[in-house]
Amino acid sequence: MTVFTRDDFLKLDHQDPLAPFRNEFHIPQGVIYMDGNSLGAMPKATPRRVREVTERQWAQGLIKSWNTADWFHAPRRIGDKIAAIIGAEQGEVVATDSTGINLFKAISAALMVNADRSVIVMEGSNFPTDNYMAQGLVEFLGHRHRIRFVEKEGIMDAMDDRVAVVCLTDVHYKTGHRLDMQAITARAHRHGALTVWDLCHSAGAVPVDLNDAGADFAVGCGYKYLNGGPGAPAFIFVAKRHQDRVKQPLTGWWSHRAPFEFTRDYEIAEGINRMLSGTQPILSLCALEVGVDLMARADIHRIREKSKQMGDLFIAAVEQQCDGYGFAIVSPRNADERGSQVSLSHKNGYAIMQALIERGVIGDFRAPEILRFGLTPLYLRYADVWDAVEILSDIMARQIWKDPKYHVRQAVT
Ligand SMILES: *Cc1c(COP(=O)(O)O)cnc(C)c1O
Repeated sequence: MTVFTRDDFLKLDHQDPLAPFRNEFHIPQGVIYMDGNSLGAMPKATPRRVREVTERQWAQGLIKSWNTADWFHAPRRIGDKIAAIIGAEQGEVVATDSTGINLFKAISAALMVNADRSVIVMEGSNFPTDNYMAQGLVEFLGHRHRIRFVEKEGIMDAMDDRVAVVCLTDVHYKTGHRLDMQAITARAHRHGALTVWDLCHSAGAVPVDLNDAGADFAVGCGYKYLNGGPGAPAFIFVAKRHQDRVKQPLTGWWSHRAPFEFTRDYEIAEGINRMLSGTQPILSLCALEVGVDLMARADIHRIREKSKQMGDLFIAAVEQQCDGYGFAIVSPRNADERGSQVSLSHKNGYAIMQALIERGVIGDFRAPEILRFGLTPLYLRYADVWDAVEILSDIMARQIWKDPKYHVRQAVT
């Protein structure tokens, strides 16, 4: 086995073509940030943009800014920029609402298209909001549908001609495993089912080509790898070929054909605008746009290469430096099957993560025993990966995690 030293990691930083991007983010001194898969770091340009939108567009321009600053078209404008990152066309994506709400709209739309079918296929271990939203929808629709929960090995076999929609997350939030979007979509289509792809842990992290995969619907998050800020608006994609026929139930005025005619009755908008609902958080959308613009300048294939290499090295360093401390590698070892994170399991995972955070290594904990380390190539350095593992090893060697203060549960883990 190769033995690694910090110098090996430093050498990679010197050769890293993405290295200059780090300076475009605000990273606090002494912090190794490995939680960009939960809340992306702040681009340095964001406060300037928010200041402009508040102090000039809002304070000075007041309501005129809906036109003069083009606030009204922000969901479409930013959606088009996100489209370029996820293999979609212009006019197929809007930035709007939250991931959960967009999922509700997308699954509803798919169920309306496949109205004679009753099954929704989902991964039971998926991020809970996806499942909860689907369960709420099933109840709202009077239990005429059934969710068929499977795990990744069972997805292909779960498809039959009763399936209306297959709603899956491309990269699993906990383990980081990646599904085969192309193969699953093809299988779903063979059975006449539609697909909803959740790209929360994919957009800005791995190359995604929705149209190449033949995806029908997709949703994703703005505050993770797109660095849009806490609670940033999410996005929703509908393939062009479906846009004439899909409907969704949250028919607010922004999805009306002519919102400013103020007519009594709903008439559906043309194109992707029909997936909107109501007035959008413009301050948040403008902050998101800064992150999206930054991401658009980076080559996603380079991001992927660095992320895979950092993941491989993180795993190798953990095996070298933390051997015998009771960690198991949960994420796929094959980088091609892994998103941009590495998850470890440990029965004292919560306390270990708290101790890491106090030492400046910020990852997160997902119950019952997963420690997640997000790898964000735009602002994480190879040397950070080495240093994080060194600190982890020190916390284990000196049993620092045993301090009772690390065992107190906080509201957000
Ligand atoms: C982060 C994440 C969400 C977040 O949903 P919100 O509506 O923003 O709370 C949903 N699904 C998955 C798979 C996620 O990773």
